Amino acid sequence: MGLSERITSAEVYRILNPSLRPTVVRLRTDAGTVGLGDTGVSYGAGTEAMPPLLAELLRTAVLGRPLSARHEILLELTYGTFWAKRAGSLFAGAVSAIDQALHDAAARALGVPLHELLGGRVHTRLPVYANGWYFGQHSEEDRLTAARRVVADGHRALKTYPLVRQDEEQRLRHPSPARWDSALLRSAIDHVRRLRERVGDDVRLMVDLGGCVPRDHAPELLGALRDLGVEFAEEPFDPADESSLHWLPTPAPVPVATGERLTGLAAFDRVLRTGAVSIIQPDVCLAGGHGVFQSVAALARGHSIRVSPHNCSSGIGTAHTVQAAAAVPNLHSVETFPYLSAVPGYREILTDPLEPRIEAGLLTVPDRPGIGVDLDDTVASAFLVKRLKERHI
Ligand SMILES: [Mg+2]
Repeated sequence: MGLSERITSAEVYRILNPSLRPTVVRLRTDAGTVGLGDTGVSYGAGTEAMPPLLAELLRTAVLGRPLSARHEILLELTYGTFWAKRAGSLFAGAVSAIDQALHDAAARALGVPLHELLGGRVHTRLPVYANGWYFGQHSEEDRLTAARRVVADGHRALKTYPLVRQDEEQRLRHPSPARWDSALLRSAIDHVRRLRERVGDDVRLMVDLGGCVPRDHAPELLGALRDLGVEFAEEPFDPADESSLHWLPTPAPVPVATGERLTGLAAFDRVLRTGAVSIIQPDVCLAGGHGVFQSVAALARGHSIRVSPHNCSSGIGTAHTVQAAAAVPNLHSVETFPYLSAVPGYREILTDPLEPRIEAGLLTVPDRPGIGVDLDDTVASAFLVKRLKERHI
């Protein structure tokens, strides 16, 4: 039937995995076509608030509408709900997931991979970097050994968090300003040095600073990361603090990346205009959906800035990220979590996740209809929290 298919039902799942707890949605049309979306807010506090928010937006703006109305629905969600303007991550995540699910369903209804609706594929294989390889490792030595395994598995790039501690539930805890001192600075530099020694000079290292470095220590830290051959330093400052980006020398000692917590095009525009950022990291699950993501990528291209999509939720989020990245000419790399499935207690909700298909640091873009992955109902049904139906059915 194509784009005239009407959305008749929706299911909301909250996946309770160790370390990540994503909320995802599956739409279903009157022709049986499905569409999957991921809200992106899968860590930190507040994730319990996502399913009811998502359900409210689905009920008020989506059920009963045809797939051809997907752009109108996004506009209604963006301009007709009050809180989507200057949205925080929860609201923007809910809107993004709906936009994703509508795009996925539309592409499946048309029988084309999603990237065909995003301008068309310009990459068939995407360079990825590995994150999450440290989950389940409780000491520095264990983490360094795990990093060696990542390289032995064929990965050519990986990310580390030298300022965090992992709590007993494997969550990453960034330091508060009250905990900051020069010993933390030293231990961060030492960690990256040990990691560099362990993985060798040919492996690309990304360093996430979690938005917590005070200005007086930033030059020393960024300079040390430059000397250790770090590919980019992510979020050196609080993501709301654009003044520190303006304050950074140009060019920064090491390429600076940011963007995972930004929502809406104007926020990205302000950060790109600081001149301090070399890599922008929109999250298609959080920034506002596929339209905002592609707009950010195009805006970045106008500033000669490359895109490394942030991606840290479910395999649905990864599948959308891959489709979006395939259409971005100025792509730097894609964030992936290939080792989550090895964490004890992890439940895979997809029948065909993309992460196991990474080979030598590259991921081939699926060309099946939509995002190219499907929910495994035998696993996902345990995480179903809401089922919504069009009212008159
Ligand atoms: Mg980050």
